[in-house]
Amino acid sequence: MARRPTGAYGLTMAGTFVTVVCPDCENEQVVFEKAATAVACEVCGHTLATPTGGKATIESDVVETVEAR
Ligand SMILES: [Zn+2]
Repeated sequence: MARRPTGAYGLTMAGTFVTVVCPDCENEQVVFEKAATAVACEVCGHTLATPTGGKATIESDVVETVEAR
């Protein structure tokens, strides 16, 4: 699995998932980059991503970008 720096995401067109780390509890969670609804941490409920109508705003640290296949 290829790892990319945080700055690389946004260059791909569609179907990208990112692994983020919750700033509150350090839970790692995979979030769809174009999430249509807000994504909350499964552990503590902290908002990890907010939908914007296009690409979601990722509210936490992206540790990995997972390319769609
Ligand atoms: Zn959390």
